Amino acid sequence: MNGQQITERLASKGIRPTANRILVYDALARQESPQSLKNMENLLLSMDKSSIFRVLTLFLKYDVVHAFEDGRGVMNYELCNEHGECHHHDNHVHFYCEVCGRSFCMENVPVPVFALPPGFCQHSASFVIKGECPNCKAKKTKTTL
Ligand SMILES: [Zn+2]
Ligand SMILES: [Zn+2]
Ligand SMILES: [Zn+2]
Repeated sequence: MNGQQITERLASKGIRPTANRILVYDALARQESPQSLKNMENLLLSMDKSSIFRVLTLFLKYDVVHAFEDGRGVMNYELCNEHGECHHHDNHVHFYCEVCGRSFCMENVPVPVFALPPGFCQHSASFVIKGECPNCKAKKTKTTL
């Protein structure tokens, strides 16, 4: 994504594209997997922690990003792929690798629908599966041979 596309995306979500916001968006867009605040700090060494957090909080409020807790209870952030209003009520499952600590999006694995007791209205659901990613699993097999 180039600067122009990021500016358009932010505008479509209803927020002003300031320099910091573009930086944070760009850093997330370059990653293949969801990132924690700590990772974001390492990706954005020129920005201080509180500025990054402020931008992410704003992004969350305007559905520029979505967040979920990974296997350690740490918030992970990922970009919303939708332009404008977000209809991500059918959230996907996430996978947390207990060996390397990375989070993965299982875009094609929908969160199961649960039959709730009468009177309970679901707004969202977060689903994290813990285990080993293919990379770590392959490494382990090699070392045990
Ligand atoms: Zn979304
Ligand atoms: Zn792993
Ligand atoms: Zn995801």
